[in-house]
Amino acid sequence: MNKHIRSTLKTYFGFTRFRRGQEEIITALLEGRDVLAVMPTGAGKSLCYQVPALLLEGLTLVISPLISLMKDQVNALQDGGIPGAYLNSSLAPGEYQATLSRALRGEYKILYLAPEGLKREDIRSLTGQVPISLVVIDEAHCISQWGHDFRPSYLFIREFIQGLSERPITAAFTATATDQVKEDIVLILELENPYMLTTGFNRENLYFGVQKIPRNRDKVQALLEYLSQHQDKSGILYCITRKTVEELCAVLCAEGYGATRYHAGLEDWERQSNQDDFIYDRKPLMVATNAFGMGIDKSNVSFVIHFNIPMNIESYYQEAGRAGRDGGPADCLLLYSPHDLRTNTYLISHSKPGEPPKDRALIDHQLELLKAMTYYATTTDCLRARLLAYFGDRPANYCGNCSNCATGFESIDISIAAQKIISCVYRIEQRGKRFGKAMVVDILRGNKNQKLLSQGLESLSTYGIMADMDSHRIRTILDHLIAQEYLALEGDTYPVVCAASRSGEIIFEKKPLEMMLPKETAPPHTVAVKTAALDERLLSKLKALRNRLAQEANKPAYIIFSDASLRDMCRKLPVNTEQFLSVSGVGRVKMEKYGDAFTRLIREHTIGGG
Ligand code: ADP
Ligand code: MG
Repeated sequence: MNKHIRSTLKTYFGFTRFRRGQEEIITALLEGRDVLAVMPTGAGKSLCYQVPALLLEGLTLVISPLISLMKDQVNALQDGGIPGAYLNSSLAPGEYQATLSRALRGEYKILYLAPEGLKREDIRSLTGQVPISLVVIDEAHCISQWGHDFRPSYLFIREFIQGLSERPITAAFTATATDQVKEDIVLILELENPYMLTTGFNRENLYFGVQKIPRNRDKVQALLEYLSQHQDKSGILYCITRKTVEELCAVLCAEGYGATRYHAGLEDWERQSNQDDFIYDRKPLMVATNAFGMGIDKSNVSFVIHFNIPMNIESYYQEAGRAGRDGGPADCLLLYSPHDLRTNTYLISHSKPGEPPKDRALIDHQLELLKAMTYYATTTDCLRARLLAYFGDRPANYCGNCSNCATGFESIDISIAAQKIISCVYRIEQRGKRFGKAMVVDILRGNKNQKLLSQGLESLSTYGIMADMDSHRIRTILDHLIAQEYLALEGDTYPVVCAASRSGEIIFEKKPLEMMLPKETAPPHTVAVKTAALDERLLSKLKALRNRLAQEANKPAYIIFSDASLRDMCRKLPVNTEQFLSVSGVGRVKMEKYGDAFTRLIREHTIGGG
């Protein structure tokens, strides 16, 4: 890693290591290249442009549609000692002018703007006087009509960039973009030979769990049990109806939990104030409908629990993904009851009061999406694999960090199965043919489909030799053999299975092979609760200190330190400022600001014997 990049990372952000994709993007930007990066929520996109912003001459402009987030982002920058600011319609005229003058004097390295702001005369004149080195377009999918969140104001960005006296480096970031949307971004923004990076959808720190609970009463019980094991942690509980939100919130408050609520039926002021209570950790639990969450950047959400099954996998992954943005371990749990499907089906099939009746095709489409979500809730496969495959990634069949992997998988000897599969592929090739995966599975299973029979494939010696295994399992093993290169897949449009150079290891050398597979009789879903071997008492003391400092500074607690940083303090137990600097998330300014208070607390805790 380049020396300057490394020291900037530590000094200003307090990190010693990059997350996936960050270093490549930063390097590309510093070399003057345009960038288009697609990275999941919480992956750390901000850092990818904030580090270059500090190292490049001149000013970096960040265009973002979420005015409510700018304050947070800038707060976090300033707390790390980075000169940043924002200009948008939420500022009082006096503040706006003051910020603008400081920007004109070159006092900032990073300036956040809303797309609507780009048309303003004062912004034009600012960019005429201060050199702009980098323009960042956050949530870049908003530029495409094909994205799920099109903003017409984004279309002006190109003209704005063209109007600058020198073309700046241009970088586009988003968490969601299909190939079509990516193409649109490149075309509309006129990115020049951009460095393109898509890191995939996986969020390693998230634990996925499904618990099947038929009755609502039992769900409340399960929830209370979970909460009692996760005291003081912040979490979101999603319910499908406003009524359930009201009821559940009341139960939690009666049980003594700091819970608040959010749904579209509340007055604006109450929604705002409840949201603030949650963000500022005055109330650690948010009970909400899916109306809650857009633009919520709270990094220390330790769990997202769906009390009812959501409408589709897209919403589920987006909502669940609000957990663990700080990279620390976090849980995404679904409490599933088949009974809930009736509510969802009703909501899909009926339009809301005052709205025109829904079109049949739309209803059918939404019911299909709900079906995919139901498969997720009932599968015995790896839950993470299900989600990632849904989004087009090619995950392994076992992640080891979901409720199915934790309780329903075991290591199974697949040597014989592998020999059967590979010899079947050999036999097919001996006849001068090649087929896709589905056909190979059909032959092994001994199925009788039209194409198979018409080609006389039932006379293959391997026809039906795996009749005792279900198709899905054969397919899973076949995928594993391909991933491990014991077999190969050739062709793009119609990929066919072929023998590979490693096939012989299985067939001739009889190499033994094992893999993790769902147990043949999978036990009912359970939510495995993991306990970290951390000094929980110290952690809660550190949290109390953080909360006090946050209150004094009137900032959300996670702006001061993320939970991940506090956990790292518990592991490293720094007792002087130099050691404190080794904590993840502690940069130079944070060390100076908070080092004394935190190390003193840790000293007292460890000397006092906890
Ligand atoms: P997003 O990709 O959703 O915009 P953010 O930029 O908001 O994600 O970052 C999410 C969290 O990850 C923040 O709390 C940030 O401090 C943390 N983070 C980013 N990069 C790193 C890193 N290299 N090491 C540790 N934490 C990081
Ligand atoms: Mg972001």
